[in-house]
Amino acid sequence: MRIGQGIDVHAFGPGDHVVLGGVHVPHDRGLVAHSDGDVVIHALCDAVLGALALGDIGIHFPPSDARWKGVSSRHFLLHCATLMIDRGYALANADVTIVCERPKIAPHVEAMRRNLATDLGCGIGDVSVKATTSEKLGFTGRGEGIAAFAVVLLQRSRAPTTVAADDPALRELVTRVELDPQS
Ligand SMILES: [Zn+2]
Repeated sequence: MRIGQGIDVHAFGPGDHVVLGGVHVPHDRGLVAHSDGDVVIHALCDAVLGALALGDIGIHFPPSDARWKGVSSRHFLLHCATLMIDRGYALANADVTIVCERPKIAPHVEAMRRNLATDLGCGIGDVSVKATTSEKLGFTGRGEGIAAFAVVLLQRSRAPTTVAADDPALRELVTRVELDPQS
């Protein structure tokens, strides 16, 4: 078993929606980011990469790389899931906490869990998404941005293969996956 933790924060900026857990959530602000600013997926990716001791999302998807500009963060999660499977692990469970005053998260939690479970190749019962406010304290309390915290547990599913993390075939696999950013 391996445990991993991930944290992500994005500031609010101009816009009419945010993307959380791959779900398009209408809001009177957007999130400032190179990609879609999906804090849920970014925290989860860092947790999976952390459990595998493979660095962080910034190493795998550098903001300086124009390929990732505006791309759905579900591509990042699929990449991390591919690395996990390649190394002979499967997700035991994941728990994500979103911290913000607005928008309201509860109506979107089930859709987020479905997306995350799909990308991680596990059951929806293995993925928890929950939300809290910070009682109007700090940057989340002042409505300046959204934070997300993720913890994952990975279990050994088989012996690891010898495919390298930067294998072009893995990258090809991830970029071939077509995703609807609105879903
Ligand atoms: Zn991020």
